[in-house]
Amino acid sequence: MFDTESGQPVLEAHRCPLCGKPNQCVMAQSGAAEDQPCWCRSETFPQALIDRLPPAARHKACICRACVRAYHQSMQEQQ
Ligand SMILES: [Zn+2]
Repeated sequence: MFDTESGQPVLEAHRCPLCGKPNQCVMAQSGAAEDQPCWCRSETFPQALIDRLPPAARHKACICRACVRAYHQSMQEQQ
């Protein structure tokens, strides 16, 4: 997802840097403490997915569940 004015990727903590949709990260949404329980805590983010992100987006915004699931699904289809 790109900002139409600056042409720069939109970096928002509550949006998935891969698809631009809300990542439903509790920590990003509440803007609160790191101790909030969130689905992203129990999910494993494949390194290959993280590698697809621009360096500026890494460790700033969570990849959304849909993208993680889509990745796992594509891996299974290759087997
Ligand atoms: Zn996504």
